[in-house]
Amino acid sequence: MFKASVFTLYPDMFPGTLGMALAGKGLADGAWSLDVHNIRDAATDKHRSVDDTPAGGGAGMVLRADVLARSLDTHLAADDPWPKLLMSPRGTPLTQTMVRDLASGPGAAIVCGRFEGVDERVIEARGLREVSIGDYVLSGGEVAAQVLLDAVVRLLPGVMGNDASGTQESFETGLLEHPHFTRPVEWEGRQIPEILRSGDHKRIEAWRRAQAEALTRARRPDIWAKRDA
Ligand code: SAH
Repeated sequence: MFKASVFTLYPDMFPGTLGMALAGKGLADGAWSLDVHNIRDAATDKHRSVDDTPAGGGAGMVLRADVLARSLDTHLAADDPWPKLLMSPRGTPLTQTMVRDLASGPGAAIVCGRFEGVDERVIEARGLREVSIGDYVLSGGEVAAQVLLDAVVRLLPGVMGNDASGTQESFETGLLEHPHFTRPVEWEGRQIPEILRSGDHKRIEAWRRAQAEALTRARRPDIWAKRDA
């Protein structure tokens, strides 16, 4: 079973979106598990403080190394087999390849940052691998962790009803996905492309492939340039 351990200052944000729909059903069915740890529980002073002002000055606050390390050490064992991730705009951009790697592993420990970020020393000392969900700045790592876990969990055995739909999507084939249509056949004067109603699976396959290629070339020249095919 894929085991997710989340470290956050806002435990009530979990399971959040992961408690519903496919991910939520998978959680209820035991396809994956979720432990949520409040970093603040590892604070020791009477104000239970977790952050302090940045060394060298500047705006905002920094999550303390000692507090986060104590939280991690309380809940993780040194020989735990799963990667320790820190959601961070400075991290390696999350890709479907990374998602698939994580989904085929035993789980992940995920730290959600807040404030200006996390004291660099705990990132180094605990070997946290920084992962970004995109080139923009969120107010905290919780939504980012949910994005990552949502992408992972849907690939776990038994979570998605139709297993084939997990492997034919955007990015899985090195291409963006072809357009979809469903009934009614005519809507606001627009028809479903005739070929999709032909029943000729070879032609349909070729059409979808051509559409996917055209979309990828037009919208994501970066992906097109890197495709395997
Ligand atoms: N000062 C930091 C941004 C801090 S945002 C900087 O300029 O890099 C606060 C927290 O939100 C971060 O510690 C991180 O955990 C989370 N976060 C923000 N943007 C993110 C992104 N694109 N991907 C993953 N996590 C992000």
